[in-house]
Amino acid sequence: MAITLLHGWQSWSARHSDLDNARIASGNMAKALSQHANDAFQAIDGLLLNVTDRVSALGMGSPLVMEMAPLLHRLSEEMPELDGLLICDELGYWVVNSSGESHLDGNNSDRPYFIYHRDHDERTPLIGAVLRSRSTNRWVIPISRRINHRDGSFAGVALATIDLAYFTRFYSTFDVGTKGSIGLLLRNGTLLTRQPFDDKLINRDFSDSPLFRQLLPAAPNGSVANNSRIDGVRRLFSYQAIKKYPVVVTVALSEDDVLADWYQETLVYSMGVLILLLMIATFGWRLIGQIELRLQAELKALKAKDELQELNRTLEMLAHRDGLTGLANRRHFDDMLEKEYRRACRGGGPLSLVLIDVDFFKQYNDIYGHQAGDECLRQIGKVLKGMERRPADLAVRYGGEEMLLLLPDTDEAGAAQMAETIRAGIQALGIVHSANPAGVVTVSAGVNSILPGRQHIPPIDELVGQADAALYEAKRGGRNQVRQARQMPDTA
Ligand code: GH3
Ligand code: MG
Ligand code: MG
Repeated sequence: MAITLLHGWQSWSARHSDLDNARIASGNMAKALSQHANDAFQAIDGLLLNVTDRVSALGMGSPLVMEMAPLLHRLSEEMPELDGLLICDELGYWVVNSSGESHLDGNNSDRPYFIYHRDHDERTPLIGAVLRSRSTNRWVIPISRRINHRDGSFAGVALATIDLAYFTRFYSTFDVGTKGSIGLLLRNGTLLTRQPFDDKLINRDFSDSPLFRQLLPAAPNGSVANNSRIDGVRRLFSYQAIKKYPVVVTVALSEDDVLADWYQETLVYSMGVLILLLMIATFGWRLIGQIELRLQAELKALKAKDELQELNRTLEMLAHRDGLTGLANRRHFDDMLEKEYRRACRGGGPLSLVLIDVDFFKQYNDIYGHQAGDECLRQIGKVLKGMERRPADLAVRYGGEEMLLLLPDTDEAGAAQMAETIRAGIQALGIVHSANPAGVVTVSAGVNSILPGRQHIPPIDELVGQADAALYEAKRGGRNQVRQARQMPDTA
């Protein structure tokens, strides 16, 4: 979007500046062409003024006026823009002209300029609409002045005609594009000539066009963009009025011509931007695809890692647990005992263990079956598990129907009490055992405690043995009871 906006803005401002430059160029051109027209009219008018002054001085009826023919002829030869010079008397009859002919029988009393000068006593020149010259048959612009008798009455008209081709040829040397135009108009709205030339447009009235209705009344020069009344083409239009004569020059450049290069460039740039955008889109699309794939792979890896960790935990747990009762197994007990033993030795706290063995269990299996035996062991395991009251306490299935409770930071009295609670708890389960004198399943327990600092501490591998010895005592003493291991006297 940013690239598109930037490109749009850049193209728009390039178009704007192209149009601006064209407006300046057409304005300058109108100024230069109006200067050219001004010079042409001024030269001819100057000549005309000379002639009228001379005729007035000689008097219209004087034969000296007729003798001016070679002079007029020479003047017209010298000035390429001058088509012809003619002097008519007060009735419109030709008196003398620049063609060099001596036999003159023309009459111009019907021409509008003649009528105008006859009826208006003005000493200013009159520029008229385009005419077909009666002497040369060419398109000409008439510029005329009134000639007076000495008493101020109308004596005739001096007429100079400017060859329209003089302007047309000059204008055709300018490049205004395929649809551009240059116009030369009278201030009253009459078109004199136009480039490209079209004789059907000569003398057409444009007095109700915006140029004459709005623009010229407001300012003698300016530039606007508008649609042409002649061919409907949108143009940049500049005009410049001449101060001294009632003439306006217009220059119009078609927007299509002005913007031709801009269209081309914008098209090429737009294609480039489009290709760039397509490349970015393709690349971005693939990049997003790759990122998504990577994210998915990462998610998968994370999930796999979680599953693996979960599996590891399960495996670890399984490795530490006894399958039947869910208590810690022998291996785990060995690890924990070593740890707690060392800790007890270091810290000086007591450490106890309670070893239990089910009474008459062989018979129980025999009577009730091995599966019932397993269920019985599970129940006993639960009781033992319930005795894990501190975080470090550990209930263990030591092997077969022998279970064990490891009690860190517990002295012999505490351990004995725990053992008694276990024993009573198992009896209270009320699992019927006909071969047991108690009528229900019972256990015997052997308790062993070490009290670092107060007595000799036996090596670690003797701890269970001593508890077992106490257990044996309990069996011998009639089962369903707790016995404490005998402690060695403190050597310290
Ligand atoms: P005592 O009172 O002297 O301990 O007599 P007892 O019959 O319990 O004798 P002993 O402790 O030697 O008996 C162990 C019996 O426990 C052997 C075996 O049949 C039984 N046993 C050991 N492990 C399991 C087991 O996982 N499941 C079952 N159902 N029975 C087991
Ligand atoms: Mg046993
Ligand atoms: Mg037993």
